[in-house]
Amino acid sequence: MPEKPRTLADFKLPLMALTCTQCGRKGRYNVARLIERHGPEMPIRDFIDVIGRSCHRWTHPMKHQSCGLGCDDLIYMFMPKPAAEGYAEQMQTDRG
Ligand SMILES: [Zn+2]
Repeated sequence: MPEKPRTLADFKLPLMALTCTQCGRKGRYNVARLIERHGPEMPIRDFIDVIGRSCHRWTHPMKHQSCGLGCDDLIYMFMPKPAAEGYAEQMQTDRG
């Protein structure tokens, strides 16, 4: 079963901060307004792609020069629980 893409409705913060480490782009987007405009079902990845299109490194990636546009919050928001901690807890429970 393919994983459901994360949508704007899944985004838990009021502002989505997008940054590109390659070209220095920085933007903060009001998530409520994005949902009004694009609908809650728009995949976050698609939205980032829309923003990325204004970066020529995004549209014309070259070796070692592709655009690094992304949202740091996403990484933390949707990352599985810290593997080490959760795993240790589970191991103890299992043994008990
Ligand atoms: Zn860029």
